[in-house]
Amino acid sequence: MSDLILFWHRRDLRISDNTGLAAAREKSAKVIGVFCLDPGILNSDDVAPARVTYMIGCLQSLQQQYLQAGSKLLILHDNPVAAIPNLAKALKAKAVFWNWDVEPYAQIRDNDVIAALKAQGIQTLNQNWDQLLHSPGEIFSGSKTPYTVYTPFWKNWSSKPKLNPVATLENCENLTVAEQEIAKQAGVINLPSAKDLGFIWDGELIIEPGETAAQTRLETFINSAIDEYQEQRNFPGVDGTSQLSAALKFGVIGIRTIWQATIETLENSNSEEVTASIRTWQQELAWREFYQHAMYHFPELADGAYRDSFKNFPWQNNEAHFQAWCEGKTGYPIVDAAMRQLNETGWMHNRCRMIVASFLTKDLIINPQWGEKYFMQKLIDGDLSANNGGWQWSASSGMDPKPLRIFNPASQAQKFDADGEYIRQWVRELRYVETQYLISGNILPLERRSIGYPAPIVDHKKQQALFKQLYQQQKISMD
Ligand SMILES: Cc1cc2nc3c(=O)[nH]c(=O)nc-3n(C[C@H](O)[C@H](O)[C@H](O)COP(=O)(O)OP(=O)(O)OC[C@H]3O[C@@H](n4cnc5c(N)ncnc54)[C@H](O)[C@@H]3O)c2cc1C
Repeated sequence: MSDLILFWHRRDLRISDNTGLAAAREKSAKVIGVFCLDPGILNSDDVAPARVTYMIGCLQSLQQQYLQAGSKLLILHDNPVAAIPNLAKALKAKAVFWNWDVEPYAQIRDNDVIAALKAQGIQTLNQNWDQLLHSPGEIFSGSKTPYTVYTPFWKNWSSKPKLNPVATLENCENLTVAEQEIAKQAGVINLPSAKDLGFIWDGELIIEPGETAAQTRLETFINSAIDEYQEQRNFPGVDGTSQLSAALKFGVIGIRTIWQATIETLENSNSEEVTASIRTWQQELAWREFYQHAMYHFPELADGAYRDSFKNFPWQNNEAHFQAWCEGKTGYPIVDAAMRQLNETGWMHNRCRMIVASFLTKDLIINPQWGEKYFMQKLIDGDLSANNGGWQWSASSGMDPKPLRIFNPASQAQKFDADGEYIRQWVRELRYVETQYLISGNILPLERRSIGYPAPIVDHKKQQALFKQLYQQQKISMD
């Protein structure tokens, strides 16, 4: 057996501040990276072209970084349960390392890989929770149970000391020419493009792929926007958030690196407002961890509602309404602007994610799982835990202690897009409509017809009342 350690990248597409990779490098200079394009994931029906395009770009950049570190990133395109052990065996690797993941699919797959590697006498190391500041086993309530409410989770999570970033991969030993040939025979291929894999995305990506671009984005956000985050983060027409979500989803930037940047900024803060803003951003990072811990402890979340009263909810599931929602043609300007932003860019502002999710579930009375899936088919940052958490929160079907929250699209637009700039940017046929009509949604039928903008597909007031009634009936029938 050689000194070679294979490092299997999954949602950690970087060489800096990567705990599992750093652990591998401590054990050997011959650390070789591998990424497996999994047909089980790529052939499923909830993959977004923007997300695959971003991921392939990140892999390209990771290949360059491996070269600079003196090593190589190998690409496989097969079921990892067979392909990873097969490659490890062919290269006579002494171990395979990787970072652990909270998702149910990943855990089953990883356990199968562990079993296959063990059968071949190959060591594994996979207990690094690289993508989180605290592992799910670290944060429990006083009664030693997982938290189901965010605020006490945040209190506990934020009080715990956090690790500093770990060493970047460097000074590695590469594969020999003979080993490269063996790797090819074991299924290693050149990195395909997203198009080769059947995913066409011609639009711009909201964030450039790769580690350097993610670090630059973090610096820009820290230098120019974090100070006003608390105030600005709610306005979809303002560039007030980090747009780091896709980089965080694929681990293109280390979470310890991000946290350290917030601590340094806190130390330099010279006002209560700035401190509060930085703290608010840290809380968003904690939401991300809260949902990942929830997914780990309650994997059944992935299959539907957390609350019993929502398990058999009489959703109306009108297909035409769903189609109108997907296309941004509901006749509610703020909803349509948000859905068009999603369709055109693969990203949507958080405030708007809440508005459209509330609209789908409480106004159209459509099963949140439909919306959750559509988001996964479009979002560059689509992530099971965060997306599921966001949808369950919006549908009132999740762990949230305040379940009946209904957003009024008009008041949301009046509050958060008061000048109608965001609506005008994405619903172009509305750009000449006067602001007061635009944000209230009270556009006259004649005007709607003349500019080709649809009439509202439902009446918000009526639907809200209907939803409340269904909700009460459902609760009573469960008691
Ligand atoms: C219905 C719905 C679906 C969502 N789907 C996803 C998803 O698939 N992937 C995803 O990353 N986020 C999702 N979110 C959370 C949030 O909308 C995005 O993380 C955020 O808009 C990304 O923009 P940003 O990077 O500029 O965020 P910032 O405001 O800069 O926040 C920093 C980071 O914190 C994390 N974060 C922020 N808010 C949340 C939150 N509410 N829940 C979990 N993590 C959060 C993200 O990683 C984000 O990049 C969803 C929210 C809702 C309401």
